[in-house]
Amino acid sequence: MPKAQQQRLLNYATSIAKCPTETSAYGSCVSAQAERIKQGDCNAEFKKLIDCVTKNLKKKLKRANRLLTFYKYNYKFVPPFRVLVDGTFCNAALQEKLNLAEQIPKYLTEETHLMTTNCVIKELEKFGPLLYGALVIAKQFEIAECPHSTPKAASDCLAHLARRAASGKTKYLIATQDDELTEKLRTIVGTPIMYIKFKTVLLDNISEATKSGCSRDENEIKKLKELKKEILESKNVVEKKKKKKKKGGANPLSCKKKVMKASVETIRTGERTATGKRKRTKKKGTIAEE
Ligand SMILES: [Zn+2]
Repeated sequence: MPKAQQQRLLNYATSIAKCPTETSAYGSCVSAQAERIKQGDCNAEFKKLIDCVTKNLKKKLKRANRLLTFYKYNYKFVPPFRVLVDGTFCNAALQEKLNLAEQIPKYLTEETHLMTTNCVIKELEKFGPLLYGALVIAKQFEIAECPHSTPKAASDCLAHLARRAASGKTKYLIATQDDELTEKLRTIVGTPIMYIKFKTVLLDNISEATKSGCSRDENEIKKLKELKKEILESKNVVEKKKKKKKKGGANPLSCKKKVMKASVETIRTGERTATGKRKRTKKKGTIAEE
């Protein structure tokens, strides 16, 4: 089977795993028919399964888009994005059979440069055959410059670049599976972290430090949202008024032909009294229509 096709199947396997109810319903339908199964027999179950898979994929991309918009707006991240990977991330990609050069740009939906540092390469080399696969993957990527002429531990090197990126123009997304490094990165304001889980690349939730780092901006956003709400509300009022005006004319549907009904009318009769006033008596009668 060609590699690309194998990868696509693996991607679907992950998405299908997130729809257990739909998968087992489709499975039971197929197995109940056994050899008698004909094309289209389990169409309804299959459609439900596909809907679930599509929904999950959309959800994942929507979340990534929301997080990236946050970093773009608050921390001046602009495409092409620079993703700095470490050895642990390359190793996880190898184990999960993920093609990073394909999966990461697809997930970030923007042009992406995958990068690593000399310190990461040197550290992987130290591990020898144990991490040889990860080293091969890491060596495919561009080398981001770091100031360590004597190589440092990969986690220290990436944390250093993340700190420098926080105040500098060159921004990095850091991709790692190293829990200790992740914790450190979460304290550096404005650092997006990527990791691999369920055979897929994901962006970490926005850290508290990053959130508070832009709280001033968030207040501005809140004010803008309130202003937008006010404008929308006043616009709604104007539109409602306009709609009322439109209602002015007679509704043609209500212009039904008059139906003449036999009505009850009062017939005035009576004689004048001594004072000249008419003495009224009322007589009820029915006027028949012609
Ligand atoms: Zn370094």
